[in-house]
Amino acid sequence: MAITKVWIEEGCIVCNACEAETPDVFHVTDTSCNIIGSCRKDGIDSENRDEMSELNDDIQTELADSIIAAAAGCPVEVIKYDQV
Ligand code: SF4
Repeated sequence: MAITKVWIEEGCIVCNACEAETPDVFHVTDTSCNIIGSCRKDGIDSENRDEMSELNDDIQTELADSIIAAAAGCPVEVIKYDQV
């Protein structure tokens, strides 16, 4: 099982729960939450809603469970991902 992509839909309330759960992937800003560039194939810090960049290969498997846990813990359910 792997998570190939993760992104943030509109509506993040910057609660910080995802960063607390998975700080290697999520970084909460003043206005939203970014998928950290260093874990993405395109290297960009953003919500990844437009870019839809894949995660780096090692992250896809090693942090899959942690990303799923963060998504489940998001109070407004804006963390979305592709799972294979
Ligand atoms: S858990 Fe959800 S609402 Fe909270 S900062 Fe992360 S994406 Fe935003």
